Amino acid sequence: MENLMSKIVSLAKRRGFVYQNSEIYGGINGVWDLGPLGTLLANNLKQEWWRSMVFKRDDVVGLDSSILSHPRVWEASGHLKSFTDPLIECKICHGRFRADHKKEIEEHAKTHKEPSFTDVKQFNLMFKTFMGPLDNEEHKTYLRPETAQGIFINFENVISSTRVKIPFGIAQIGKGFRNEITTGNFLFRVREFEMMELEFFVKPGTDRDWYEYWKKERLKWYLNLGIKKENIRIEELPKEDVAHYSRGTSEIWYNWPFMGFGELEGIANRGDYDLSQHSKFSGHELAYFDEEENTRFTPYVIEPSVGVGRLILAFLIDAYKEEEKRVVLKLHPGLSPVKVAVFPLLSNKLPLAKLAKDIYDNLKKQINGVVSYDDRGNIGKRYFSQDEIGTPFCVTVDFQSLKDKTVTVRDRDSMKQERIKIKDLNIYLQNNLEGKIDA
Ligand code: ATP
Repeated sequence: MENLMSKIVSLAKRRGFVYQNSEIYGGINGVWDLGPLGTLLANNLKQEWWRSMVFKRDDVVGLDSSILSHPRVWEASGHLKSFTDPLIECKICHGRFRADHKKEIEEHAKTHKEPSFTDVKQFNLMFKTFMGPLDNEEHKTYLRPETAQGIFINFENVISSTRVKIPFGIAQIGKGFRNEITTGNFLFRVREFEMMELEFFVKPGTDRDWYEYWKKERLKWYLNLGIKKENIRIEELPKEDVAHYSRGTSEIWYNWPFMGFGELEGIANRGDYDLSQHSKFSGHELAYFDEEENTRFTPYVIEPSVGVGRLILAFLIDAYKEEEKRVVLKLHPGLSPVKVAVFPLLSNKLPLAKLAKDIYDNLKKQINGVVSYDDRGNIGKRYFSQDEIGTPFCVTVDFQSLKDKTVTVRDRDSMKQERIKIKDLNIYLQNNLEGKIDA
C-alpha cells in the first residue's frame, strides 16, 4: 500500500499535478504546489462543490473573506487559547511529535533504542504575523487557520445586504494555514491548504435534523462523483473527542492506503457557539429576527468543512488503476483535468493534420474544459498518456475521416472506439461529459 502512494506521488510530479514547494532549495515541509493538471483538477473539484452548495440551491450564498483579520477574531473564536495540539520532544534528537500520534512515537523510540520525551505542552497551530510597519506584540495577528470565522464575522452584513431567510447558508472557498507539528502523507497533512466550508444557519431545535441532512448530502456528493462505496463512510465521533460546544460531530472517512479509514471531511453541529462568542467579544449582537414569528434568536450552525488537497489525494487514490498495459485514472469526467484529446492518426500527412486541427479548434470553443492536441509518437502511446491523466475521450482523425467526415471516439474506461460524424461530435461529447455529471 505504501507502494501505491509512491506511485501516485511520482505520477503527480511527472505529469504536473503536484510539485514539492521550493524543491530547487531542497523543499519545505508540508507545502506543495499544484502544477498545470493539479490546478485543473482542483478547480473542477471546487466547481463541483460550489455547484452543489450554491448554484443548485436557493438557500446558500457565497462569500470570499480575507486571510487576515482583526486579532480579536481569534480570541473570540477560541483559537488563540485552544487551537493547539499536544507536543512532546525527543530529548536525544529534539524531534517534535504530536503526543496523540502514538504510532509515530513508537517508531521513533525504536530508532534511538530508548529515548525519553519531554512533558506534553500545548502548541498553538496558528501562524503569527505582523500587520503594518512595526513588528511588535501590539501589531501581531494571524493567518487564518480556517475560513469559517470570516463567515461568522460577516453574518450581519450578509443578512442586511441579501434576502436570505433562515434556514440559509454561507459558503466559502479559501486558503487556511496551520503550523502542524508534523506533516506528511503527501497532501494529507500540510501547513497551507485551501478549504471549502459551509456554515448553514438554522433555528435552534431544528439543528439535529439539519445535521443529519448535511451528513447525507455530503456523503452523496462523494458517491455521485465516483468515489467507491467501499472506500468511504461516515462516523459519528464520541463526545469525549469533540469540542465542548459541539452538539454532534461526524467525519467522512476515506480508506487511505497509509492509515486505513480516517478523516476526509468534518461535519459539525456547532450550536450557537460562534455567533455568541463574536457577540460577546465585539459587543455587537449577532442574532436573527424572524419576521413571521416576531422572535429574535441566535441561530445554530451546521458546518461541513473539507480541504481541497485532501480531496485531490482521495480522488487520485480512488481513481488510480493499473491494468495490463496501462495506468489509468478513472476520474469522474467532471473532475478530469483534460476533457478531450484530439489526434491526427499520422502527423506528417497534411490533410489529416489540418482536419484534426480544425476539429480541435472547434471543440476548444464548445467544450467547457480543456481540450488538448497531440501528434507525437504512435497512437497507442498517445492513448496511454491520456489514460494516465484521466482524459475521458480521445478523438482520432484517420484516412476514413477525409472520405466520410467521421472520426473515432475512444472511451477511456472501456477503450472501445465508436465512429461519430464530425458534425455530431460536439453534441456527442457534451452529452457524454456533462450527462454524467449530476453530483
Ligand atoms: P486533525 O485533528 O486531524 O488535525 P481537525 O479535526 O483539526 O484535523 P478540521 O478542523 O476538522 O481538522 O479541518 C477540516 C478539514 O480540513 C479536514 O477534514 C481536512 O479535510 C482539512 N484539513 C485540516 N487540517 C489539514 C491539514 N493539515 N492538511 C490538509 N488538510 C487539512
